[in-house]
Amino acid sequence: MTVNRGTLFIISAPSGTGKGTIVSEILKSDPTIYFSVSATTRAPREGEKDGVNYFFISREEFLGLIKTGGMLEHTEFCGNLYGTPKKAVYDKLDAGRDVILEIETVGAMNVKAVCPDAVSIFILPPSLSELRRRLQTRGTDSEEVIARRVAEARAEIEKSKGYDFVIMNDDLSVAVGDIKTVMYASKKLTRLNQNMIEGVLQKC
Ligand code: 5GP
Repeated sequence: MTVNRGTLFIISAPSGTGKGTIVSEILKSDPTIYFSVSATTRAPREGEKDGVNYFFISREEFLGLIKTGGMLEHTEFCGNLYGTPKKAVYDKLDAGRDVILEIETVGAMNVKAVCPDAVSIFILPPSLSELRRRLQTRGTDSEEVIARRVAEARAEIEKSKGYDFVIMNDDLSVAVGDIKTVMYASKKLTRLNQNMIEGVLQKC
């Protein structure tokens, strides 16, 4: 029996929108989903682990990976390089597992260009002032970095207009439920089920 290919989900959200918590809730509820661990040249934040949150690598290593075709996509964001290692993503999709990429908007559009079947979901904060408040409460960034992240968020929210789905994170459990619903429904998209239709047509 042939294995159905997994679905590639792209989740983007401005920093401080709660996407980390949302994604970990989704992964907890379905351990078959593979979370793609990105590579970055940014320094680890307190509590972040190499190989779990990110692969923390040097700029030289990162540029080497791009050169050898090891990245599905990559971009520079707030002065640091971020990228999706290609092999792990394709291996899991081929094995029939759904994959989540948690990446920013430029990377999302680049993935859509090479994987048009990918399903993109954008998580919105309730407002920019609430986003600023959440970043301040998190206490991991300086005021200068927070100002930069809020400005970046505004530009990213503009780009959410090109996503397949937008979900507001006003209430965590509602947002998690909404994303699960969207993921479930996406797997029924006609464009992702051409083989199933052909299979039915071939049976007499
Ligand atoms: P942070 O530094 O807050 O962890 O991440 C900054 C931004 O980079 C977030 O919007 C996050 O989604 C994005 N990001 C993380 N990994 C990747 C990646 O592999 N590719 C791209 N394009 N963006 C990423």
